[in-house]
Amino acid sequence: MNSLWSNLVQNLDPYVAGEQPKDKTYIKLNTNENPYPPSPKVMQAIQSVTASDLRLYPDPDASSLRTAIAEYYAVSPTNIFVGNGSDEVLGFAFVAFFKKENPLYFPEITYSFYPSYCRLYEIRYRQCAMANDWSIQFDDIGDSPGGIVFPNPNAPTGMLLSLQQIESLVKRYQDIVIVVDEAYIDFGGDTAIELTQTYSNLLVVQTCSKSRSLAGLRVGYAVGHPNLIAALERVKNSFNAYPLDAIAIRAATASFEDQVYFEQCCNQIIETRDWFTAQLNALSFQVLESKSNFVFARHTQVEAKHLSKSLKEKAILVRHFSSPKIDNYLRISIGTREDMEGLIDSLGSIL
Ligand code: PMP
Repeated sequence: MNSLWSNLVQNLDPYVAGEQPKDKTYIKLNTNENPYPPSPKVMQAIQSVTASDLRLYPDPDASSLRTAIAEYYAVSPTNIFVGNGSDEVLGFAFVAFFKKENPLYFPEITYSFYPSYCRLYEIRYRQCAMANDWSIQFDDIGDSPGGIVFPNPNAPTGMLLSLQQIESLVKRYQDIVIVVDEAYIDFGGDTAIELTQTYSNLLVVQTCSKSRSLAGLRVGYAVGHPNLIAALERVKNSFNAYPLDAIAIRAATASFEDQVYFEQCCNQIIETRDWFTAQLNALSFQVLESKSNFVFARHTQVEAKHLSKSLKEKAILVRHFSSPKIDNYLRISIGTREDMEGLIDSLGSIL
């Protein structure tokens, strides 16, 4: 028996999610959640869920949500795939598009789920070295890549690639699928969704977790050519015919119907991020230019590990990054202005 247990997926090195403390009194700036509640329309939609919504299976096509997303981006519902968070959508994309023979390329410093998926699905991968300023570059891509994936803005750096850079990449590698993970695009970047209407090898993945304040609901989606969407559907249907539960479909649909609230929240976070960056600079931090709802920063004299530990003692959670590639950085999510003022005050007393 013991040898049976010892053989069970021991070689997997799964993704480890950020700390979610039971104690809700922390100022929680460690997992890039939105500090604002979802739109009131989302809450109304959840309250309108009926007994039959729960008794019956949900719409396997999640049609109302796919239509709302399609209208929002002025594309067709046949361009839209939905799933339980963008992590699931990305997982399906890895299965559907990245072949085992040729390596998948992604940046050396990036979202740590990508190597986990590769190990799970036995996909070979190579990592592209970062430029000196920590921006993404693709110079290391070899002759026969099996695919390319990267976040834009990148995580955890927050740095953005331009649409021109993305377009030249999708043009250059027309025979492979390129997945752009836009989890943080609504905080100051331009989405590449428009390019999916011209380039059939581009898949853009987004989420309702960050800019729509719905991390707890688990809704993500992909936008791309109908052939890519059909391939994702085939993979999804091989796991589970129902992409989303009835509550998630209703609630996420309502979120796409409240544009004004969405823009207000995003603008507020952008304004707070820019204010907070200036405050960090004044405290002798080096801060990478972020177009996301977090900043990646290091202090010129004090170790990140010490700072994150001291902040935790003051009931503020941030994420300390330490790896052989990039060390001594803090990733700090942008909360309310009040949260960030509290953080700056605490840093002032620690430094
Ligand atoms: N992509 C990136 C770059 C992320 O940081 C995250 C959040 N951890 C995700 C995707 C997944 O987000 P979700 O599954 O909540 O949609």
